Parts: sequence; C-alpha cells; structure tokens
Amino acid sequence: MTRTVIGVDLGGTNLRTALLAPEGEVLDRRKGATHVSDGWEKVVGRLIEEIGHQRANATRRGFAVAAVGVGAPGVIQGDRGIVVKSPNFPDWNNLPLKKLLEEALSLPVMIENDANAAALGEQWRGAGQNIKSMILLTLGTGVGGGIVLDSKIWHGADGMAGELGHMTIVPEGRLCSCGNVGCLEAYASARGIVQSYREALEPSVRRSSQGVGPITSEYVYEAARSGSEIALQVMRDMGRMLGIGIANLINIFNPERIVIGGGVKDAWPLFIESARQEIMRRAFEVPAKRTEIVPSLLGDDAGMVGAAAVAYQHLESGSRSGSSDA
Ligand SMILES: [Zn+2]
Repeated sequence: MTRTVIGVDLGGTNLRTALLAPEGEVLDRRKGATHVSDGWEKVVGRLIEEIGHQRANATRRGFAVAAVGVGAPGVIQGDRGIVVKSPNFPDWNNLPLKKLLEEALSLPVMIENDANAAALGEQWRGAGQNIKSMILLTLGTGVGGGIVLDSKIWHGADGMAGELGHMTIVPEGRLCSCGNVGCLEAYASARGIVQSYREALEPSVRRSSQGVGPITSEYVYEAARSGSEIALQVMRDMGRMLGIGIANLINIFNPERIVIGGGVKDAWPLFIESARQEIMRRAFEVPAKRTEIVPSLLGDDAGMVGAAAVAYQHLESGSRSGSSDA
C-alpha cells in the first residue's frame, strides 16, 4: 500500500489540505474556510475534520496515511509543535497544536512555519527542484521567506530564522509593521508599493480635493503597463530595494537559486531588471552571476506541499534513528 502524507496549509482565511505521494505528487486537494474569529477550539476542530476528510479520501483510493504536516503562520516551536504566537490567530498563545492533533488523529504530526514550509515546497517540487540550497522570498501584502540549506529548512537558534522581509535596507527608512524602520517589507511588499506610489503622487493628490481614491498594488502595475512614468519609476525603485536585499542574501548564503513568490511576482517585468542591476552592483561577482533568480512555480500549493515534505523528512529520520529527537 502506498504510504502517503497529508499536507496542510493553515492560513488566516483558507484552510487547505492535500494528499501527497512520496515523490511529492498531489493526489488530491481540498480547500475550506478557517473562520479565525470562531476561536482556536473551533479552528482546531475544523482542522481535524478537514484532515479526516482527506484521510477517508485516501482510504477510499487504497492509500495509507503515515503522517501529517501542518504549515501555520507565526512563531512555531518546531520540535514540540507549539504555536507560540501568531499575528493571524490572536488567541493562539503557546497552543500545543502538534499534541492536540496527534491525540485526535493518532498519527505523527509535524508543525512548521508556513513561509518555511512554502520554501521547502518550492525546493521539493517547484522552482527549486534538483538543487539543494535555495531561498524563497515571498512578496505579498508583507514580505516573508524561507532558507533551505542542504534540502533542510534553516530554523536558527530560536526557530525564527528566515524573516527575510525584516532585513534593514534603509537605516532611517519607513516604519515597518514589525516596529523597526527601513525593512525590505516596507518597500518591496504590495503595501510598500502602494505607499511609494502615494508618496510619488502626493503633489497632484494635494491639488485634487477628491484625492485618487483607494489605490491597490494592481492599480500601480496597470498604470505602469500603460506607460505612467510615475508608476514605472515606483516599480524600478521597488526593484532596487529588492536587489539590495537579494545582494545581501547572495553574499551571506551563496545560494544556487533565489525563488520569488507572492502576488507582487505578477509585476515581474516591471522590477526585475532594476533588481538585477542592483545585485550586480553590490554582490560579489562570482555568486551574483551564478545565483539564478526565478519566479515560484507552486502558487497556493507551496505551503501544503512543503508541509508534506516536512512530514516525509520526519518519517525518514524516524526510520533511520528509530525515534525523533523531540
Ligand atoms: Zn520589519
């Protein structure tokens, strides 16, 4: 019987589950709503229910489920599977998610930070296939990421490595959501792009009593594509900030590839050239030339594919050592 695992991407809005074969093939996927405001007990209950559906589905198709991997937002104490805190789940404080799920499911469960899981997902089955060291930068509402070294997620001493959006790019720059100023996120996220556009537009906004109404990042890309010099410059400046960040990553990690995901990726042609120029200007020549900068491939699947990879890695290490080092 094929030994499958269930990968879960637990987001603030959606709860996605997938059934994966050992080579990473997605055999089935489901999507439900998280309903965070219902409180942690209901959300965990829903999680158990969704995993149960996926498990019944596996049984029907003749597969055995060997483990579950969950990607969750926030600070995760990985080995114990505790969600220490999560901006998306305000009432989750030191929630022992691994224990709760293992008791309900009688299966080994691994918990991983969602951004880290997405990085491992891309490395396993997406834009990082066949390479061992890769960094994922996710440019969405915020900027997140994950570092994969030797096919393993780099967690750091406190499980908090990979906060790539919060490297300082401008010493006295914009206030970031994290409380620091001048972080990459404040410039290279969808929110940052909108702010840059507003700032660039400021004089004309002041002239018009109505202002320009709600601006979205998509609005800025569209304006740039239709030739607005202001919007084009905003995107070039964003690319420059991104390039500074990537040059830092290249000089520190000398990765084989840097994968860029998230909604901002859709504006790729508008920022990538200025990012590349900045990288060549700042990073050491040999690693700068060898590092491939590519868009992500898995989209919404990355998190659950990566969570499944974590579960498979756990099963492999268990079969090697006989037990996990919890
Ligand atoms: Zn920050």
